[in-house]
Amino acid sequence: MLYKVLKKDDSKEFLSKLISDYEFIGPVKKDRETHDFLRINDIKKLDTNYKRTTIAPAKKILFLPSETLIQYEINEDVKINPVHNAKEKILFGIDACDVNGMNFLDRFFSEFEIIDEPYTSRRKNLMVIGLDRMPSETNFSISMGMEYAKDGFDIFLTDLGNRYFVRVGTKKGNDLLAKYASAVNASQEDFKDYDKFMDDYRKSFKNKADTENFYDNYELIYDDRKFWDKVAKDCYSCGSCCLVCPTCFCFNVRDDMELNLKKGSKIREWDSCMIPGYGLVAGGHNFRPDKENRLKQRYRCKLKTFEDRLGTNSCVGCGRCIEACLAKINIAEDINAVKKEVSV
Ligand code: SF4
Ligand code: SF4
Repeated sequence: MLYKVLKKDDSKEFLSKLISDYEFIGPVKKDRETHDFLRINDIKKLDTNYKRTTIAPAKKILFLPSETLIQYEINEDVKINPVHNAKEKILFGIDACDVNGMNFLDRFFSEFEIIDEPYTSRRKNLMVIGLDRMPSETNFSISMGMEYAKDGFDIFLTDLGNRYFVRVGTKKGNDLLAKYASAVNASQEDFKDYDKFMDDYRKSFKNKADTENFYDNYELIYDDRKFWDKVAKDCYSCGSCCLVCPTCFCFNVRDDMELNLKKGSKIREWDSCMIPGYGLVAGGHNFRPDKENRLKQRYRCKLKTFEDRLGTNSCVGCGRCIEACLAKINIAEDINAVKKEVSV
């Protein structure tokens, strides 16, 4: 890791050059409350003064909501053409917990038996410039140990008022800075100011989840029907929590075939384990017909399954699912409720 500083005035020129030379995606104000990560051609559209984004930024750029995976043609033989488009892009302005969310997806799509080519080829071509943000009121990433990103970015910026503290995570990031910016090595004074920023940032988290012993407590509560009935009673099974989550990865693949049955495509689309049809299989059996079962399964996936498989949680504590849920189901409160219930 290299540590540098970049003057605020120089940062505008740096970003303008990147916007003109690359496909550049950054935060754009959508309405009074929310921002989205969109392609930017003019620096005036860039608005880093955001607290929340409803759509998970890294996920939708790397793991598209809907995409054609292959096209095929069936004649005497079968021709299969993979389809993916992996142009070089820069993603600017995602915060530490979203970088950690992307790190989880990187592992999920590359460390199991099947390497997901569309995802990994896009990831290789994505340069990431992170930006520290003060947490929104629902963000509890500090409780998940995800409020700070150690890796997964090329450059990470922290706003110190008149300058940015710059952590350089990769050679690509260093080359980008060398070519487009006039950053200098960070001094002791800069480190001191950075530490002060991080202390204030960590103190500003309002939402907390007590994850201590959750790994074991969860098993104890797993078959307690009364508890899960209470937790899930207002759930509409709408799936919004999965759509906004930066680490949810469930998808469905469907065939889109021409009427002559000779040509077609396989289309991948986001899916959600919270929707009743997700567990439906041929013959009409549904493995998870109840909302209580679906919710507890989602919590298992977020807070336990990947502890066993990858040594990490798949929840980064961004708080988006709390904001998106019309039934006000709150994963941080539910983590705390498990502890309270078990320790009584
Ligand atoms: S927990 Fe909330 S967002 Fe998720 S499916 Fe239920 S109602 Fe929808
Ligand atoms: S489960 Fe909720 S809080 Fe956790 S990463 Fe997903 S959206 Fe964020």
